[in-house]
Amino acid sequence: MPDTKQLQHFIGGEWVEPATGEHFESTNPATRAVNYVAARGNAADVGRAVEAARDTFEDPRWRDLSATRRGHLLRRLGDLIGENAEELARMETQDNGKLLREMRGQLATLPEYWYYYAGLADKIHGDFIPTSDRRVLNYTSREPLGVVGAITPWNSPLTLTTSKLAPALCAGNTVVVKPSEHTSATVLRLAELAVEAGFPPGAVNVVTGYGAEAGQALVDHPSLAKLSFTGSTATGARIASSTAGRFIGSTLELGGKSPNIVFEDADVANAAMGVVAGIFAAAGQTCIAGSRIFVHRSVHDELLERVAERARSIRIGDPLDDATELGPLAFEDQRDKVAGYVDLGRSEGARVLTGGRSSDGGLGGYFYEPTVLVDVDNSMRVVREEIFGPVAAVMPFDTEEEVVRLANDTEYGLAAGVWTRNLSRAHRMAARIDAGTIWVNTYRAMSPMSPRQGFKSSGVGVEHGTETIKEYTRLKSVWINTSEDPVADPFVMRG
Ligand code: NAD
Repeated sequence: MPDTKQLQHFIGGEWVEPATGEHFESTNPATRAVNYVAARGNAADVGRAVEAARDTFEDPRWRDLSATRRGHLLRRLGDLIGENAEELARMETQDNGKLLREMRGQLATLPEYWYYYAGLADKIHGDFIPTSDRRVLNYTSREPLGVVGAITPWNSPLTLTTSKLAPALCAGNTVVVKPSEHTSATVLRLAELAVEAGFPPGAVNVVTGYGAEAGQALVDHPSLAKLSFTGSTATGARIASSTAGRFIGSTLELGGKSPNIVFEDADVANAAMGVVAGIFAAAGQTCIAGSRIFVHRSVHDELLERVAERARSIRIGDPLDDATELGPLAFEDQRDKVAGYVDLGRSEGARVLTGGRSSDGGLGGYFYEPTVLVDVDNSMRVVREEIFGPVAAVMPFDTEEEVVRLANDTEYGLAAGVWTRNLSRAHRMAARIDAGTIWVNTYRAMSPMSPRQGFKSSGVGVEHGTETIKEYTRLKSVWINTSEDPVADPFVMRG
């Protein structure tokens, strides 16, 4: 990566100036200092990147590379990410304000995602289908799609980009990524490392810029074979309608408003920690945040007190400092949005038990205190809409039946937590909660091996595991007549 504070696009293995020559600023949310300026991409830049990706997709050096060798490239890229983990973690913290400790943790496991798909590359195959006619051979094969467009958010830039790139490249596609305008740097560095790992230039291209410009241009590009998006439900809906008429597949990983449910038979101390981890880790800026907390009335006050006490003691400050527990929100509008929701909650009748104020963290940045809202119910906007910040809404319930109804009364269906020591209840809840991921007596567990899918307005399609390979391949069915019999005249009736 050029040692400059002015970043360019990465297209066809080269650093490329934006067609307009324009750049935009990316700032550190903890301090408001400008980190760098990035290239402001438009349709011309996207066109160039898609062309580079298309050329590489058709190049025999990529197209005919054996799957095992493709796997080697993924493995090498995983190694390089591991070797550069500290640099990448620091870049992400400066870009989005998440704790360096957390980003180090993400970077420590990120190579495993690449190793997982490295191992899978030469295990993608079709089937032999024993149809009723033994003279005809029928088999299927899985083919790569072509150029995949990937659009990603700012909250875990490299992890969420990897969830798309690793399986897409594993299956033999090439990609154009449009990272969030708030976090361009590490995705550009990833593309550079891909070339260093031996991927042909043009296998991974990055066009930076705003969603409405570079993002929309990528969505609208006619040569795209697939669009894989992670971001808000509103943007996902816009993307789905843009791609619908072209009949290209889209994988959409969208927002959430996940319930975290504590039963009377739970270990309350553990459940309280699980609740705190679910909503205050990463300053609540995760799609899976457990933002609706339902607590059985008999343990409600005890759990609430434990959660509020821990929330009050969370140490806010510099995300680079290992002692800090809560960093800033990722940018000014995001902080204002969170503050606006808490004010809205107050006006709807919610009571702020703790938190509820902006802060500059002593650094001049965009911080917001860990906040617990009570006296809330499912009719309020603070309980229905995704806030994407450290704001928990806590509600009592009386029966299992009631909490199933309340938990499922949402447009989202990304994840849910259940805290209980009753094994039968754990399985009942896992079956009845309408969400793609259910955690029992834990929260936020994740692995490249485990597929995940958002239900309802939380998404379409699967990420991770072997299942996601289907999202990046198409199925071909081949019929071969193996008999020497003459082909029958279709108009002569056989007696
Ligand atoms: P966002 O929708 O604002 O932006 C996501 C990406 O889309 C960015 O790169 C943005 O530039 C781009 N974009 C915006 N408008 C576009 C358009 N018209 N056409 C094409 N691209 C466009 O989301 P965000 O604020 O960056 O991220 C937060 C959201 O992401 C939250 O809703 C969160 O729940 C969701 N999220 C979901 C998952 C998941 O796996 N389900 C994971 C992380 C985040």
